Amino acid sequence: MTEKKLIPLAINGGIGFGAKLTPKQLIALGTYLDEDTEIELTTFQQLIIQVSEEKVETAKDELEAVGFSVYKVGPYVKSLRTCNFCQGADEEGMPVAIELNKRIAGQEVPFTLRPAYTGCPNACGEPLINDIGVIKRLEHYELYVGGQAKGEDARAAVLLKDKLEPDQLYDLVDAVLEVYRKNGRKRERLAKFIDRYGFENLKKEVRIS
Ligand code: SF4
Repeated sequence: MTEKKLIPLAINGGIGFGAKLTPKQLIALGTYLDEDTEIELTTFQQLIIQVSEEKVETAKDELEAVGFSVYKVGPYVKSLRTCNFCQGADEEGMPVAIELNKRIAGQEVPFTLRPAYTGCPNACGEPLINDIGVIKRLEHYELYVGGQAKGEDARAAVLLKDKLEPDQLYDLVDAVLEVYRKNGRKRERLAKFIDRYGFENLKKEVRIS
């Protein structure tokens, strides 16, 4: 008998007030998993499940229908990790976080990239220890790049540009990803790429003077 091929999928409950799941979502999830299957819970608010190859498309549709977001596992931009938006959705820019996530999550990059968003400078979503970090400060957004939580060369992300309007933020994140995609080596983390390529060169490429 040939063994069925399993495909890993990363899922999360979408961007909202905290990382929450509903019973409806958990029931839908259970229908695609064998009883003894293990589910990996990542630090990035994602569950990693293994679904048999022939069920992947149906599983994606049905999981999305109950509010899950479904992503590929591998060298892609992960879904945006966010804070809990404790001061309110609009005050803390939840619509901007949702739009940013829609634009970047799942994009192919040289190495898995973790973006994080936080609705005020308290930075509960830990944007400075992720590859790309966004902080909302009053009415504008700050973009940080190259943070790294793991390894002996762990470091905080560096401010690339502040006082950004939402559209400027989306465009700038896209530009950074494009430079990284074109010039990064296979399996080279963003922080390492910036070390090699040069922060000033990155700024020049994305047209920040
Ligand atoms: S970062 Fe600010 S808005 Fe977000 S949960 Fe923390 S205190 Fe609340």
